[in-house]
Amino acid sequence: MKKQGKKEGRKKQLTSEQYKILKEKGTEPAFTGKYLHNKKKGTYVCAGCGKELFSSEDKFDSGTGWPSFTKPIKKNSIDAKPDHNFGMNRTELLCENCGGHLGHIFDDGPAPTGLRYCVNSAALDFKEKKKIK
Ligand code: FE
Repeated sequence: MKKQGKKEGRKKQLTSEQYKILKEKGTEPAFTGKYLHNKKKGTYVCAGCGKELFSSEDKFDSGTGWPSFTKPIKKNSIDAKPDHNFGMNRTELLCENCGGHLGHIFDDGPAPTGLRYCVNSAALDFKEKKKIK
């Protein structure tokens, strides 16, 4: 029997919504996420472990109803793996640090990468960039 251990690096209790997405690979309903229309400058971090994942610089409006990015903040911030659930061929997007499910990666994004990192708002926390006076 495998013991259920606490995930390393978790900094806080997850809400049930965050848990459903990060741990159970759920998807929030389109157009409901709190960061969909967030246009502030800053960094999006993993809601599970705090790892920096995406920059506001790479966010774009994909029209899909989920926050979308052309690339992660660093190449090794994320993991990608094939997802054949629901009879689809998709690429799952995960946090490299805690393995939390973030969303999916699609190849219909804009320049420069042509990729769309489609992320659930509930999998993210946002750190606003402090204004320098
Ligand atoms: Fe994480």
